[in-house]
Amino acid sequence: MLDLRADPIALTAALVDIPSESRHEQRIADEIEAALRAQAPWFEVVRNGDAVLARTHLGRSSRVLLAGHTDTVPAADNVPSRVVDGLMYGCGTSDMKSGDAVFLHLAATLAEPSHDITLVMYDCEEIESSANGLGRIERELPDWLTADVAILGEPSGGFIEAGCQGTIRVVASAKGTRAHSARSWLGDNAIHKLGAVLDRLSGYQPRNVDIDGCVYREGLSAVRIDGGVAGNVIPDAASATVNFRFAPDRSVEQAVDHVREVFDGLDVTLEVTDAAAGALPGLANPAAASLVAAAGGQVRAKYGWTDVSRFAALGIAAVNYGPGDPNLAHKVDEHVDVAAITATTDTLRAYLTA
Ligand SMILES: [Zn+2]
Repeated sequence: MLDLRADPIALTAALVDIPSESRHEQRIADEIEAALRAQAPWFEVVRNGDAVLARTHLGRSSRVLLAGHTDTVPAADNVPSRVVDGLMYGCGTSDMKSGDAVFLHLAATLAEPSHDITLVMYDCEEIESSANGLGRIERELPDWLTADVAILGEPSGGFIEAGCQGTIRVVASAKGTRAHSARSWLGDNAIHKLGAVLDRLSGYQPRNVDIDGCVYREGLSAVRIDGGVAGNVIPDAASATVNFRFAPDRSVEQAVDHVREVFDGLDVTLEVTDAAAGALPGLANPAAASLVAAAGGQVRAKYGWTDVSRFAALGIAAVNYGPGDPNLAHKVDEHVDVAAITATTDTLRAYLTA
């Protein structure tokens, strides 16, 4: 049986040594469920598919939710784990079994935490979002996803990573008139009309927005150009696809309005093809602010989109905080600094018992 009270470094190794590629998580879920029932009897434990949920009922005035996915990308001959010079190598060491180990260890060793604790160990984070175990829990056991603050143990390099940027894609399409390029004056060149679009983009000054001490750097970029008929034809259609990554103080609608303003007056039509809202960091919430303080104020904006956004959409302040290095996730030489596992455990122990 997994020993949840063992050093979280040893627990990380034990979890890595149980292969758990997405959709093959029954064994690791069985092991986690059995260990929690035996070693942390003050938790109510339920099983949902290959997710294991556990929560305390201590009557505290605040609740902290600790969430970690148990799946990994397919292993690349990098299981079992091995430690070399203070670095533990293996599939899932960074993303995110070291984070899982910290949470499980704290659950089994803090019988009197100062917050109620909910632990969510969920499946299928690394594949299509329709399979995501957290999404299934939201549909089937919504009362389990209530808390004042949610901490995801995703690799964050020892920083509290809060909130996330939103993203929209907009296609700017120009129309013209086709003609033989030998008589170009008979046509109207759609590709040339995109020049004005590109000028606006190169002259664009993106904002840096500070929210709760996190700086979000916006970006408005052309990511694709389409157009052209043949080598001797004036083209009658051309388009530029533009991606706007925006700070979470704008809604999707406000972001779309902003892009329309940027291209105002140009001879193009705009179509929004993709949109995902950002998430505010929510660090003004007292339970989140004391977490930032416990981590020594080491806080930064999250740029990519993670399950933090699911919690933000539920109105829960949510951050990533895990010992792994985000740059190493999914790599063959994936590893975690074992000292970071200890440091993360110490920080969260201080926070959960303050
Ligand atoms: Zn992950």
